Amino acid sequence: MSLLIKNITVVPMDGKDEVLESTNIYIEDDKIIDIGNIKEDINATRIIDGTNKVAIPGLINAHTHIGMSLLRNYADDLPLHEWLTQKIWPVEAKLTGEDVYWGSLLSMVEMIQSGTTAFCDMYFFMDEVGKGLEQSGMRGVLTRGIVEETGKEKEKLDDTKELYNNWNGKENGRIKVMVAPHAPYTCSPDYLEDIMDLAYELDTGIHIHLSETKKEVEDSFKTYGKSPIKHVYDLGLFKLPTIAAHCVHVDELDIKILRENNVNPVNNPSSNLKLASGFAPIDEMLKYGINLSLGTDGSSSNNNLNMFEEIHLASIVNKAVNMDAISVPAITVLKMATINGAKALLWDKEIGSIEIGKKADIILIDMDKPHLYPRHNIISSLTYSVQGSDVDTVIVDGNIIMEKREIKTLDVEKIMYNAEKVAKDLVNR
Ligand SMILES: [Zn+2]
Repeated sequence: MSLLIKNITVVPMDGKDEVLESTNIYIEDDKIIDIGNIKEDINATRIIDGTNKVAIPGLINAHTHIGMSLLRNYADDLPLHEWLTQKIWPVEAKLTGEDVYWGSLLSMVEMIQSGTTAFCDMYFFMDEVGKGLEQSGMRGVLTRGIVEETGKEKEKLDDTKELYNNWNGKENGRIKVMVAPHAPYTCSPDYLEDIMDLAYELDTGIHIHLSETKKEVEDSFKTYGKSPIKHVYDLGLFKLPTIAAHCVHVDELDIKILRENNVNPVNNPSSNLKLASGFAPIDEMLKYGINLSLGTDGSSSNNNLNMFEEIHLASIVNKAVNMDAISVPAITVLKMATINGAKALLWDKEIGSIEIGKKADIILIDMDKPHLYPRHNIISSLTYSVQGSDVDTVIVDGNIIMEKREIKTLDVEKIMYNAEKVAKDLVNR
């Protein structure tokens, strides 16, 4: 298949921080073949008129738990520890594969409709998320969250190995598998070492929560005499490529470790605000050249998966926290949501920017909306004014999976019906 997007404004995110006005993008199969003046006689199977639209790379949600959409608005206004131990974990213990299947599809609908094309998920019953990726046409990293449980240590590692064998590289490479120890407070040092061995064996990366709350850091100092980041660093975890969700409560030594070991922290502003976890010093991390990306976390601590909301918050919250309006500027936060996310997911050779030779993961934003006029600065519009609902068309791997806001790959009505049904059943089970 070939696709020509004509007369479009493009924000390529290719490192030049530029906006290309009324240009063209030509795609063949899964790849971007040309950008710019395209020969008149080009014979594209499909042509999309890009007038009044802006093309940007598909957004990358670098940390989420998509099956948790079933628990959206189920337990709110509670601190993290209480929220997890008293509300979320007891319900999650009753989850079935079918629940996760419908919850994940519900999240994929929401993500596609708000411009996310790739995500990194940590949950259970990950084969169901794999099936969802197959059907939706999205791109994703599957990671089975591993919490140490006596008697089930090996079973959980075997689960990840099986997941890797079943899904890694599948669907024209749209699916990847990494290894996910939930956190240093849910996995002992010995178990973390076993988990690292598995990641070496599979030759893949790590996805973990680190230093999310003040309590977690204080407990780590009590138990190990050091911060969670120093603790896992001493165990050798960062020799593997690592996606580290949160990194909210970090000190100078932590930041040095993150930078020197090319760790990829993921900022989740909505979740950190809602659970009152605090403010990650993202301005400082960015200044040190740390590859910081953006995520939504699960939709029971957010309570949505709209990356444009995270883009907006990451920028404005940090300006206020730092009492500095220059802090985390518009272009920087767009990088966090695109190319930086691609780097974290070990996918930057293929996605994260609109460049010739890269995979065609592109979203088109309908700019013909009152809140998007006038157009003094497209980069500012994208960060401060565009809403998830302004996403008109979503292309992943060269396939149009949403056009004029209609999802082509999934039955949205059926998914909402079934997600509601299993969610109600789950909490009453
Ligand atoms: Zn999380």
